[in-house]
Amino acid sequence: MRTVVGATSGPDRSDTIGIAELGWDPETVGEIDHRLLKAPSVKLRSISVGANGDAVYSIDLRVRRPNTGRRLTGVELHSLEHFLLEGFRRHLAAHFVSVGVMGCRTGFYLVFLNEGRADKICMALEEILKGIREATAVPYARIDQCGDYRSHSLERARRLAVEILERRSAWLISV
Ligand SMILES: [Zn+2]
Repeated sequence: MRTVVGATSGPDRSDTIGIAELGWDPETVGEIDHRLLKAPSVKLRSISVGANGDAVYSIDLRVRRPNTGRRLTGVELHSLEHFLLEGFRRHLAAHFVSVGVMGCRTGFYLVFLNEGRADKICMALEEILKGIREATAVPYARIDQCGDYRSHSLERARRLAVEILERRSAWLISV
């Protein structure tokens, strides 16, 4: 597998999938000085292409600006992670691979297969977040489904969803 963009050694711009055509700002792809990051934002970090042409898109959903002392709580990360997992499975079923929490507690890693269009991913995220506002329970939160099933808060997830949706028009302005 070769990484097409976003390699820490520096992307080769002559060998890139059309980043701008996918709806991303090419200047923000890859690892960025974290002091510059805006949030909430959605940012393409890398595209990895396999031998058969399948592409894996790694996306950063940054909820809070790094190093501001406003990192998410464990419960907030956990419940929103469950909603993102359930929601992307539903809204981008053919393309969603996984969601992971950032250890710095400022956001989430999202991975998609053969779907890297910014508008598709943002529209799915918007639907998921709007759904949280109406939800009556955190998904997959039973003892047989979760490794820490007591550590959830629907109310916290709702507040986070509202917070992220408030910056919907600027999600793609990540720097
Ligand atoms: Zn869990």
